[in-house]
Amino acid sequence: MADVKIDKAPAGLEGPGFFATSLDQVVGLARKNSLWPMPFATSCCGIEFMATMASTYDLGRFGAERLSYSPRQADLLLVMGTIAKKMGPVLRKVYEQMAEPKWVVAVGACASSGGIFDTYSVLQGIDRIIPVDVYVPGCPPRPEQILDGIMRVQDLVQKESIRRRDSAEYKALQEKYQIQ
Ligand code: SF4
Repeated sequence: MADVKIDKAPAGLEGPGFFATSLDQVVGLARKNSLWPMPFATSCCGIEFMATMASTYDLGRFGAERLSYSPRQADLLLVMGTIAKKMGPVLRKVYEQMAEPKWVVAVGACASSGGIFDTYSVLQGIDRIIPVDVYVPGCPPRPEQILDGIMRVQDLVQKESIRRRDSAEYKALQEKYQIQ
């Protein structure tokens, strides 16, 4: 029989027949283990992501095997590949169509910084148009690195307060990017 590992229970008060913790911790635990990624793959890094989804690496082990090809049913945007400046508005529209709360990973050198394509036509990092939570280095990153990036997002998701999206800090971030 498979060795099933259960995620750690959040910190709380425990006694015979009861366990009490905060809503933040329960929501964080649920969100962390049920991310719905949307792959925005434009070139070679997308191939590494395909390997990450396949049986050897199996993103399903992290509760994130349900990919979305509609931004409205996704909460984790994975941007993989070279993003031409012409594609910038499309990427931004996809981001805007995702419901809150949402997180973004820039997978690989191109999405993070333009990579080797220091040219007039390539966006020099997606954080010029949308906020990024985690950057995965590499050209291309190995599937292990992509998994590590997703685990870093899971850490952020678990620790995020359910009030963060209403906070002045988050509103300032949206204003900086002129997101309505
Ligand atoms: S980072 Fe490297 S592997 Fe990834 S899309 Fe750019 S050129 Fe391709």
